[in-house]
Amino acid sequence: MVDSHCHIAGPEFADDLDQVVERARGAGVTRAFVILAADDEPELAQAEKVCERWSEVRFSIGVHPHAAGKFSSDPQEAGRLVGRGIAAQPLGRAVGEIGLDYHYDFAPRDVQQQVFREQIRLAHSLKRPIVIHTREAEDDTFRILAEERASEIGGVFHCFTGDRDMARRALDIGFHLSLAGIVTFPRALELKEVARMVPLDRLLIETDSPFLAPVPHRGKRNEPAHVTRVAEVIAELRHTSVETIAAATDANFARLFAP
Ligand SMILES: [Zn+2]
Ligand SMILES: [Zn+2]
Repeated sequence: MVDSHCHIAGPEFADDLDQVVERARGAGVTRAFVILAADDEPELAQAEKVCERWSEVRFSIGVHPHAAGKFSSDPQEAGRLVGRGIAAQPLGRAVGEIGLDYHYDFAPRDVQQQVFREQIRLAHSLKRPIVIHTREAEDDTFRILAEERASEIGGVFHCFTGDRDMARRALDIGFHLSLAGIVTFPRALELKEVARMVPLDRLLIETDSPFLAPVPHRGKRNEPAHVTRVAEVIAELRHTSVETIAAATDANFARLFAP
């Protein structure tokens, strides 16, 4: 099984990384896609320690919409910074997470949009897929993806929490949907519907660790081992086996982000 989105190079995992990796492996989680913030030097440095301990990890590097404000005077610098980050990381496989977050609005929306665009352009030039973070910004997200021809590079909507219509829009432009622990929450009825409708060859699973621990770990620090719980719940919803979900999501990950 693959955890397709986690932040284990962050400070939350600095003290017990060995045990976190051990628990993941013990749970059958063979690899993880570790998201690095291009503007976070300590996290980029910690990535080395992560791949020393877990050689199967791969990295995605980007400027998160929360950090877009740092580039308000020069949005193009976000693209250049991510480009340098990927060039310096042999296991870098994608540009992300990038996108728009109008829930928190930590950066002005026009700046978020410019920084998002610059990074899609970088992904084009590198021929790499993108990892999208979008919250309460559906129409602007799809408008920019269309204007920047993102369907040509593809990628994933990470921690997808939209409804079926939004899932359809994402699938129609060739993107994958990655489901996180939210799908295990009893009240996430709409998302459970999405979990039933995503074609098996477009599905990914993730923890978004340290965030979003699934039931029954809700409220605690999340970690890659818990992606098994996401797979179990999706398997129940689709009346299929965990092995089927694991095999499909592994294959999708390999096609998108490996070797
Ligand atoms: Zn995110
Ligand atoms: Zn994330």
